[in-house]
Amino acid sequence: MRVTIITAFPEFFRDFLSTSIIGRAVETGLINVNLINLREYGFGNYRQIDDYSFGGDGMVLMAEPLSKALEKAREGHQGVDTVVYPSPQGAMLTQEMVESLASREHVIIICGHYEGIDERFAGKCVDLEVSIGDYVLTGGEIPAMAIIDAMARLVPNVVGRGGAVEEDSFFRGMLDFPHYTRPALWEGDQVPPVLISGNEKEIDKWRKQQSVQRTLRRRPDLLSRANIASYLEKGVYL
Ligand code: SAM
Repeated sequence: MRVTIITAFPEFFRDFLSTSIIGRAVETGLINVNLINLREYGFGNYRQIDDYSFGGDGMVLMAEPLSKALEKAREGHQGVDTVVYPSPQGAMLTQEMVESLASREHVIIICGHYEGIDERFAGKCVDLEVSIGDYVLTGGEIPAMAIIDAMARLVPNVVGRGGAVEEDSFFRGMLDFPHYTRPALWEGDQVPPVLISGNEKEIDKWRKQQSVQRTLRRRPDLLSRANIASYLEKGVYL
């Protein structure tokens, strides 16, 4: 997985790229993430990267610095890339979209700020606008982290235990089953006995039942796309 982030605020990413699962994945080379500071492509001594929105209030990231930063991101790489612009006006980010992005050779993420980016740059250079929800953030940095984090989980060995990723919510269109850890009894509450029975077949069946029930209760909209057949084959009932 190769990602380049173009941002006016690279400091946002320092902890993200050096902490926990993502930090380890970067350190061990499982994922390759580059940062480009948009200010380095700004105009004049002040490294200007934004200007007033024509006809209205607020600042907009200018097309030229973005274009130069994009050129830099592509330098030395002849391969095909996908330019993603996180935007509240984009298509809603889904697990399917993340899977598709994770399979691309090089993903370049343009972080907007203020009122956003010049529409002419978006029209010419952006392949995909993605939203992380119907609300507005101050910049594209947090959405960029969300996209990268979700993509990185799909890279083999980034998430430790084998199989864990495939059991998570949205894989096979279902929500995950509930998880418990030690102690088995906490404040008078016992974990479901089947989980400490040691019977793997029964545990698997229980987990699948829980997954289906949770999805039905919380996200019935997912079920139309879910691979219910694989659950029913295994004798799972509601
Ligand atoms: N004027 C824009 C609008 O109303 O559609 C909002 C701009 S927002 C304040 C600044 C930047 O934050 C955007 O360019 C985008 O990169 C990012 N952003 C904000 N909310 C987002 C969301 N829900 N999903 C993805 N990116 C978002």
